[in-house]
Amino acid sequence: MSKSPEGDTPVAESTSTRSSAVSRYASVRLAHGSGGKLSLELIQDLFVSTFGGNELAELTDAAVVANPGGRVAFCTDSHTVTPTFFPGGDIGRLAVAGTVNDLAVMGAKPTYLTAAFLIEEGYDMDELERVVRSMKATADEAGVAIVAGDTKVLERGKGDGLFINTAGVGFIPDGVDLGPSRIEAGDKILVNGTLGDHGIAVMSRREGLAMGASLESDVAPLNGLIEQVMAVAPNVRFMRDVTRGGLAAVGNEVVLNQAWGLRIFDVAVPIHDIVEEYSEMLGIDPLLAANEGKVLMVVPDDESEAALGAMKAHPLGREAAIIGDIVKKPEGVALVETAYGSRRVLEMPIEEQLPRIC
Ligand code: MG
Repeated sequence: MSKSPEGDTPVAESTSTRSSAVSRYASVRLAHGSGGKLSLELIQDLFVSTFGGNELAELTDAAVVANPGGRVAFCTDSHTVTPTFFPGGDIGRLAVAGTVNDLAVMGAKPTYLTAAFLIEEGYDMDELERVVRSMKATADEAGVAIVAGDTKVLERGKGDGLFINTAGVGFIPDGVDLGPSRIEAGDKILVNGTLGDHGIAVMSRREGLAMGASLESDVAPLNGLIEQVMAVAPNVRFMRDVTRGGLAAVGNEVVLNQAWGLRIFDVAVPIHDIVEEYSEMLGIDPLLAANEGKVLMVVPDDESEAALGAMKAHPLGREAAIIGDIVKKPEGVALVETAYGSRRVLEMPIEEQLPRIC
């Protein structure tokens, strides 16, 4: 069944198994966000049919979900990335993984997500469908349900393609207590793999550098890996997903106003050769580049080897490493130490090196 090219009046009713909203229109129209018939069709035939689940299918004003108990972690994040599809992922995978990871690093079990779409009129319907399917696949991978959503269509020229906001709820089991206040001198700092992959993969694609190269974004939900680590290292002090601003941003946020400092051993930080190479070409420090599938953990010394082993045993942690430790002095500073013992301050990024990255 052919589509009307510009999303005009449908040429005929679809006979395919594909959803009618998706198969009848080549691109998103303003009416798909109007709250009327086309909106309902898009919601039911694309979002409900892809995301599934009773809560969403009810189409009530709010999802009513079970509470498995424990404290509630609740977060939101908006996503904007150019290009929408990049090596190793797309905005949909990013939107789900980003929110799952924000919950998981609080020690929560991510459980429910909402998804709000801001779509520019004229956005390609097939592309929207691919994004939605990617969100569903990522949600399944993470074991979370998308239970509520919203769609708005912006007039042509008044939005830039597609923005997705996801909010998430997770439950923190009793006994889990994480935070920078629990960190002590002597603790070890771990990451689950190579840094800078996402930022450099997206940027090199934008700049046309990645032709034939195998650099991919690391975008992935980390709740499975985190659960595996916490099972063998129950006294993990603190976790944060290393996203925009990279290790430099996280390192500086962690030490802020603390009575201890953080030391990174530069030779211990895992970085792909190709990331090194492209970083140089792009003039970007890989320690400041974004990640979307990396977690920094601060773990007591006596649990650090077990934590590292659990990370390496997980597919998303094969290149995990202990990259530094917590030191008594200097207080409130993040340092990078070279193999020769020289030190420099891990500078906080001042402005965004890579706009529209996540
Ligand atoms: Mg975060």
